Amino acid sequence: MNCMLIGVYDRYILVDAGLMFPDFTDLGMQKILPDTSFLAQWRDKIEAVVITHGHEDHIGALPWVVPALDPSTPIYAGGFPMQLIKRRLQEFNLYDEGRLHTINMRQPFQLGPFECTPIRVTHSIPDCCGLVLRSDHGTIVHTGDWKIDENPVDGEVFDREMFESLGREGVALFMSDSTNVLAPGRTTSEALVETSLVNRVLGHQGKGRVITTQFASNLHRMAAVKKAADASGRKICFIGMSLNHYLEAAQREGRAPFDPKEVIDAADLDDYDPNQLLIVTTGSQAEPRAQLTMAAHGLSHQLKLQASDLVLYSAKVIPGNDTRVMQMMNAISQMGPEIAMGRDENLHTSGHAYKGELEEVMRYVKPQHFLPVHGEYAFLTAHAQLARDNGVNYTSVIRNGQMLGVGERRNRNTVSIGSAAGVAGAEEILGRERTDTMQVLGEVELINYYNDGNKGTGTATEMGLEERQVLAVEGIVVCAVDVGRHPEMIRAVAEASAPNAGPAAAAAAARAASQRRLKANVRVTTRGMWVGLGDRLLEQLHTAAKEAVERLPGDAALSAVERVVADALRRTCKAFNRRRPEVVVIAHEFDPRAGAAAAASARRRDTSSDHGTDLRGFQGGQQQRGGGGWQGQQRGYQGRGGQQQQQRMSDREAREVLAENDRRRQQRVREADLLSAPKGAELEDLASSADSSDDDQAVQQLLGGAEKIAPGGDSGAAPKKRRGRPPKAAAADLQELPPGFLDQRRAANPRDHPEQGGNVEYP
Ligand SMILES: [Zn+2]
Repeated sequence: MNCMLIGVYDRYILVDAGLMFPDFTDLGMQKILPDTSFLAQWRDKIEAVVITHGHEDHIGALPWVVPALDPSTPIYAGGFPMQLIKRRLQEFNLYDEGRLHTINMRQPFQLGPFECTPIRVTHSIPDCCGLVLRSDHGTIVHTGDWKIDENPVDGEVFDREMFESLGREGVALFMSDSTNVLAPGRTTSEALVETSLVNRVLGHQGKGRVITTQFASNLHRMAAVKKAADASGRKICFIGMSLNHYLEAAQREGRAPFDPKEVIDAADLDDYDPNQLLIVTTGSQAEPRAQLTMAAHGLSHQLKLQASDLVLYSAKVIPGNDTRVMQMMNAISQMGPEIAMGRDENLHTSGHAYKGELEEVMRYVKPQHFLPVHGEYAFLTAHAQLARDNGVNYTSVIRNGQMLGVGERRNRNTVSIGSAAGVAGAEEILGRERTDTMQVLGEVELINYYNDGNKGTGTATEMGLEERQVLAVEGIVVCAVDVGRHPEMIRAVAEASAPNAGPAAAAAAARAASQRRLKANVRVTTRGMWVGLGDRLLEQLHTAAKEAVERLPGDAALSAVERVVADALRRTCKAFNRRRPEVVVIAHEFDPRAGAAAAASARRRDTSSDHGTDLRGFQGGQQQRGGGGWQGQQRGYQGRGGQQQQQRMSDREAREVLAENDRRRQQRVREADLLSAPKGAELEDLASSADSSDDDQAVQQLLGGAEKIAPGGDSGAAPKKRRGRPPKAAAADLQELPPGFLDQRRAANPRDHPEQGGNVEYP
């Protein structure tokens, strides 16, 4: 990640604020951002931001980095990158003219603790610089991204002279781009690419349109394409917004290779003879929404490929994109156009120095210490070896989050311990005893932030990356459970919750809960899963969920229902086909009054267990915990009257209640473990004991309403029945519930575990 803190003691500057592009495993993510929370912690130490060039992996994170810094922290960049930065900050409402400072090559300026001199380097975007950072404690040189283009299209040559003079002056620490350290030899010039492009376009004269694809920011390449257009008498047409965006930024800075007005409008394509057209597109990496990708699949409104087209692939296939780029090129090829791509065509050159160039500059600078930057860890290691092979004695390789301390070696005997290059580390270097002039001082665990291309930004957890993986690979099971509670249990709990209820009523309620177990109406569906012939998996899931609920006691909380059903569904999926899908279970009360009964029962259990097994304590009538109660009893289920009643209880009654409490405690342990819960076989048929009260009608309807949903829609494989609704009396009761009742109900059904539907507002 190109986002590096460099400092002296604890005064730092931030070099670049880049992002990374996620690979295919970070589903739905478009950007990986640096740890802005770390930068925010260090905001008081970060005195300035300096940008080496305008590539996204160097400026793309600014909209997130800028808010993390102090509002007065200045931002320095060359003219062209500054145009891109201004536009980006405007898009994010972060534009503040006073903070932005344009820098010029070879013109020193004060940058935090350093005197900074920008040094011209060549790369694949205009106006790139390296940084010379001088301080009393030594000189640090950071190259930025670079290559040596001997014949740059814009005439701005690599500043060899200054690198050579730095070698004479003495450099304590040198940091250089490692991207192409494994590539032998030297990069070719953009001028060679220009020649190849011109020849290829001229070779297609009279045969139809020429379409090129390139990185939108590569204005040198745009200039070469323009040369080819001029040589062949064609007009340039851009298809892809970002091409205009970069050309206009260059125009504002006086660096445009041609006037944006010369570009013809994509809407007017049909007005031109195909032999007069040179179309430039985005999408060289087959990005899903880019124009060439869409055209390859016949989805672009602007670009319809024709068999007579010549497609010039003027870019590099970035490792990781290989498969989808080949798929795109295959699709294009099948539509008829001729394609030119590959190394021999010379239609692209890298913007990063090859080994020969790296060695050349290493020999100019002759640093005391070398730190390879910009590249995979393996490349950094190879670059460190290259430095040692070229006479640099002290090299180090660090990871993101590590801080490296470096001291200038004044002479053989004296070692300064003053200066340090800190790379996003947490440890202070001030006052540390040092035995070497280059060592890792500390490390912090940095957090990557992800952005979904829109407002969504957060950590991997916040963006649900693991869930996305599970959903994509394993699928999802969604299960809705209507929980029915037996009227006898509800009545017993209500009686036990009355103000003057005694322990006998509590014991009766506990018995009723144990005997009158839950009934369930289950609906279950899946997405992204193989369900077998005849929806076998759905059948099994339905049965497993129903059985799991109906093993629970009649007053089990909804959260317990969701937990045991989710467990049962997971086990079923694993047994069926070794899948581990995301499982979402939403349970709700068939009758809201029944839920209140369960809540009251849970409160009674909690309060009862406060007594412990101390009989005397119980008989003494301890103060009870308060809280709202069933049927509007605001004083709690055991008010003052209840205590008096308890004091009159016989020993036998008290022992009975305590025994019941113990039994309930054990039962709660069993609830947590479905395997050891009582089996459904012990249950008697709920319907057979129901009378004709409103409650029982509700239960009867519930029992008749079981159904399942087929994957892909509501058209169930099983015949659907009308779902039962609570009778009107129940709705009326709900309206009469006392204030605070719903809050109590929420409290009694905590959804604090994501698996149980943490985001679901209940009721
Ligand atoms: Zn770059």
